[in-house]
Amino acid sequence: MARQQKEQPRIPQDWALFAWQGVKVMVPPDWSPSALTGNYEEGYVRLDGPDQPRLEVKWAQSGKFVNIEDVVQRYCKSLTKGREGKGVQTSESTKLSVKMPKDRSSVRFFSWRLDEEAYGAAWYCKTCGRVMLVQVLGQPGTGVDTLAEQVLSSFEDHPEGDYLAWALYGFSCLAPKEFRLTGQRLLTGLLELDFENGRDKLKIVRWGLANIALKDTDLEHWLRKESKKGWRNFHVILEPTDIHGHEGLAIAGPSAAPLVHLGAIALRMIGRKFPDVLRGAAWLCPQGNKIYHVEALIDPADEGKVAVLVQSMVCHKEGA
Ligand SMILES: [Zn+2]
Ligand SMILES: [Zn+2]
Repeated sequence: MARQQKEQPRIPQDWALFAWQGVKVMVPPDWSPSALTGNYEEGYVRLDGPDQPRLEVKWAQSGKFVNIEDVVQRYCKSLTKGREGKGVQTSESTKLSVKMPKDRSSVRFFSWRLDEEAYGAAWYCKTCGRVMLVQVLGQPGTGVDTLAEQVLSSFEDHPEGDYLAWALYGFSCLAPKEFRLTGQRLLTGLLELDFENGRDKLKIVRWGLANIALKDTDLEHWLRKESKKGWRNFHVILEPTDIHGHEGLAIAGPSAAPLVHLGAIALRMIGRKFPDVLRGAAWLCPQGNKIYHVEALIDPADEGKVAVLVQSMVCHKEGA
């Protein structure tokens, strides 16, 4: 007997990638993050459209069995709290046409309706051990259910391989997944993500308005000035190099502190790693009018990871 194939909803071409803490999803281009909290184990993100919240994702790691039906029921109950008589309609038997990966267990779809309408799903992922609750919101009668199917069908809740995708505001990269996000600056004209893995450090920065930043200077001088504080204990060498078709700089800097050097030698003698070099790259993307700066404090044995990260960063679209 031929098995009926669920047709996957098509994702419009202009949709953008959003990726954060192992979650990866395609969304309409005018949805952008308004809340990014927590960490890989537990967190919450919300993406807003021009006039209202459109997507919410909550996750929590759990080592033990989680009753997803309970999670959804409790959630729907929390919506009706204090709104008795306001006609909140909830349904846990919503039929959305979404094909879920095999490692998701206890998948439950739900919907509710108040002044706005929401369609969502919750599940437990056996691979990453996280409970996910995802909902798409919108005005009733605007096809929120179809939108939810599109969003959910593109939704990934953990990375494949050794790198974690980070993507927002048109920026995207793959960072080694052992690095944990420790800081973020998301300002107009500046996007910075900071990571740590033990003593290893990694930062990824995108500056806007490059033409203004480089008005009376060049990339090398600008970068040295920007990085003065961070580089004070390193002999930083900047080598011109081609990055994504742009004029860029390869950053290499051994530590200038003699004791660090000794510590590194001692640890390497017993087969351990020690982060005592800076490795990275910076480049100007004229198409996007942006400067990119990636820098890691790592053991030289890990420099290939920085190369993968730089390679993964799409700074402009071909033909743009
Ligand atoms: Zn997962
Ligand atoms: Zn570019």
